[in-house]
Amino acid sequence: RPALDVERVRADFPILHQEVRGKPLAYFDNAATSQKPAKVIETVDHYYRALNSNIHRGVHYLSEQATSAYENAREAQRRFINAESTREIVFVRGATEAINLIVQSWGRSQLKAGDEVIISEMEHHSNIVPWQMLRDQIGIELKVIPINDAGELQLDIYEELLNERTKLVAINHLSNALGTVNPVKSIIDQAHEAGALVLVDGAQAVPHTPVDVQALGCDFYVYSGHKLFGPTGIGVLYGREDLLEAMPPYQGGGDMIKMVKLDRTIYNDLPYKFEAGTPHIAGGIGLGAAVEYVEDIGLEAIAAYEHDLLEYATEQALTVEGLKLIGTAQNKASILSFIMDGVHPHDLGTIVDSEGIAIRTGHHCAMPVMDHFGVPATARASFAFYNTHAEIDRLIAALKHAHEVLA
Ligand code: PMP
Repeated sequence: RPALDVERVRADFPILHQEVRGKPLAYFDNAATSQKPAKVIETVDHYYRALNSNIHRGVHYLSEQATSAYENAREAQRRFINAESTREIVFVRGATEAINLIVQSWGRSQLKAGDEVIISEMEHHSNIVPWQMLRDQIGIELKVIPINDAGELQLDIYEELLNERTKLVAINHLSNALGTVNPVKSIIDQAHEAGALVLVDGAQAVPHTPVDVQALGCDFYVYSGHKLFGPTGIGVLYGREDLLEAMPPYQGGGDMIKMVKLDRTIYNDLPYKFEAGTPHIAGGIGLGAAVEYVEDIGLEAIAAYEHDLLEYATEQALTVEGLKLIGTAQNKASILSFIMDGVHPHDLGTIVDSEGIAIRTGHHCAMPVMDHFGVPATARASFAFYNTHAEIDRLIAALKHAHEVLA
């Protein structure tokens, strides 16, 4: 496969070709949400112009067209993560809803007081709070894999935490706050040996690295469309079919049923059992276009290109006086998190913004990571395959300037 041609891919993203604050936009906030290629925008536009109709229930032409577009998009997700069947692909609002669904449906039906769930210190709040809620509801125990000062999981402690009470390990694939790529395959294998299931939070991983849920052997895998160059409000819960089959519905309503009497209901087959109500049809179809777009470029090519970007950015960042990286794991992708001596991250963000460069400052919905490093916030530049070395040069110049005027 040919290497990635960055000028060609940039031409696919209309939003990138504008000035902000009188400067060309350099968008480094991809971990918060990524930009959308014309293919996605046009697919959503076409849906509303030509196909808009409610799905699954209509016999009329438009409803059939919309239904098949939506179901084709589901098949695209299945292929994208190599699930065995589209019955295992549940469309949800995003990673957050997917995790809440697993916690409330699987967790409430399968767990009892004293059962243990393992999470890690580097989880996004969406993979912490729902489990704490379940703990308070039914009395499970929550165990936490700590991280080291490079921002890597302490795997020896993980091994010690695993025991016969462990029922599930819920783990980030790629940390949005640190960029750490976790060794999920061995984490999954060890959990399975201990008789526990594994939920992988792939919100940050799918835009940057090929994912094969069957090769990983994970039991649940979740991601959000909007970080994968697709629309907001749509995402995917992958669950092994036998697990989903045994789980009760998360929400009740239309579409998730086969038959309703006033005193009882027969639920629909997978995956519809978990898709109550009219879904985000345009979003699903748009996400189908997004994964086709990414597949055309190729995730290997994307990963290789971004690896170079991150190496270059890391090297250059270390030449900025007062700058300290937060997250120096051996295995990292796409994210550069840092602080600067004597400069508050928010001031750093503002100075950089005045140069037309978008970075994020804050806790990145990972407050325990901030606590670990004893900082209230970091500045974070997160890369996508449409970022360039020249944009990184501009970021570094802006950071040097910030140190001169603020430190
Ligand atoms: N997990 C990780 C690792 C994330 O980075 C995010 C989004 N920042 C989420 C989960 C939640 O995704 P969403 O807000 O799209 O539901």
